[in-house]
Amino acid sequence: MDLKHETSKSSGLQLARVSQALFESAAEGLIVIDARGKMVLLNQRACEMLGYLEEELIGAQIEMLVPMNLAGEHQKLREGFVHEPSRRSMGIGRDLRARRKDGSEFPVEISLNHFENEDDRYVMALISDITQRKRTEQELEKLNLELEHRVQLRTRELADSQNLYAVIARNFPNGIIMVFDQDFNYVFAEGRELFKMGVTSDELVGTNYLTRLGEGVRDTIELRLREVFEGQNANFDMIVDDKHYELHAVPLRDSTGLVNRILVVETNVTQQKRAEKNMLKTLDKERQLNELKSRFVAMASHEFRTPLSTILTSLSLVARYTAPEQEANRLKHYNRIRSSVHNLTGILNDFLSLDKLETGMIATNPEQIELRAFLEDMVDELHSLCKDGQTISLQFENDGIVKADKNMLRNIVMNLISNALKYSGENQTVEVKAAFRDAKVYVSVVDHGIGIPEADQNHMFERFFRAHNATNIQGTGLGLNIVKKYLDLMGGDIWFESTPGNGSIFNFVLPQNDAQ
Ligand code: ADP
Repeated sequence: MDLKHETSKSSGLQLARVSQALFESAAEGLIVIDARGKMVLLNQRACEMLGYLEEELIGAQIEMLVPMNLAGEHQKLREGFVHEPSRRSMGIGRDLRARRKDGSEFPVEISLNHFENEDDRYVMALISDITQRKRTEQELEKLNLELEHRVQLRTRELADSQNLYAVIARNFPNGIIMVFDQDFNYVFAEGRELFKMGVTSDELVGTNYLTRLGEGVRDTIELRLREVFEGQNANFDMIVDDKHYELHAVPLRDSTGLVNRILVVETNVTQQKRAEKNMLKTLDKERQLNELKSRFVAMASHEFRTPLSTILTSLSLVARYTAPEQEANRLKHYNRIRSSVHNLTGILNDFLSLDKLETGMIATNPEQIELRAFLEDMVDELHSLCKDGQTISLQFENDGIVKADKNMLRNIVMNLISNALKYSGENQTVEVKAAFRDAKVYVSVVDHGIGIPEADQNHMFERFFRAHNATNIQGTGLGLNIVKKYLDLMGGDIWFESTPGNGSIFNFVLPQNDAQ
């Protein structure tokens, strides 16, 4: 049935509601079907959409335009609609598809309307091809999915890197990584040193950094860190208690370039500094030892010459004094040789003691010493060093026992008495006085010799130091230095009084050390 032509012929079907022009120029496809589902009217757009010629469709069942599998269902729905028509969209909530002549399908949107004529009831379907819209929708959806995926990925990456930073920061060795706001409150704090301090990051965040510092350093550190808020980097050291820290601070700018936070990396370098100090100390000791040795060589080559030449001369003279009446001369030279050898041994012993002291290889070995007997033995022995007419007198205020290292005490007494003899003239007496008081033993060696110039008195215990008035008398400048070191080791002390030209008194004291 050709409805279009029938209209113009007033076949009874009133198409007054649908003007011809509107019908044909509509952007959507229009199909009118009768109550039995036969197509009675189509516009050009509908034919184009479906790939049919108008005449192929007129009179045909509408279901031929519905996807095959849905044709049955469609028929039922259509009959329902005809029975109870209303103006509405078709297939609400479902994706509608239309079937072209070539069998291909495409997405559509259909709105339904109905009208009646005296002879029949008609349904008018307005069909829009939404292929393009669907495609755009799909693309949009795909894009959305992609975007979502990317966001997820980025979020994971961020979380991962945040985790990584947190782990790195938490394990930052021997220090803390900190971020402060402008009031020096912790915004962030992580690092191994926190464990050692016994605090957690959570406990620190929000609290004030400066109040944790001792008053001694607080102002200085605040001043340095304020500079960082002004945009400068700062690197400086901080010593708190006995700990040494190195601080490196950099400004953190916000998106407007303003420094509202600073990053401070605080490293505990106490151990390195200690090691450095020890190394420098060892190096210094080594240097001093080397210097000592070279000074000794210089001194020894000078000081050895005199006793050695004395020995040589005396030996050759002794060889000449063969007659029995020359016994006195022989004895004189034997004594000279003995004294020179004693001198040499003294120098060598001093040096060996000093070397041991310097390398820290010496330890005290305390034993009970009955002082009177000990000093009497020593004085006997030292008589051999007396010049003509010299005497050594021993005086005891009281008797007692001291617990001390015997060798060291020997060395001390020997040095002081031999100096007293050496720096006094012939016929002079050297007095040795001993006294026990307050669990200590005091010993003084008094001489009436050349004395010590005042200008030199402050240097007497320095290594290799010799007073200006002693240059013509043999000596190494080591003895008193060693004596002082031995006394330090044994918890004693030494001091002296001297008047140039009048003599000196050298005193030392030692703790009795529970001697019984
Ligand atoms: P040495 O006697 O071998 O030079 P010491 O270390 O024993 O070395 O003494 C250091 C210096 O102290 C001596 O060179 C001397 O100038 C001075 N001195 C030490 N004892 C006396 C003393 N009893 N009288 C005067 N000067 C002394």
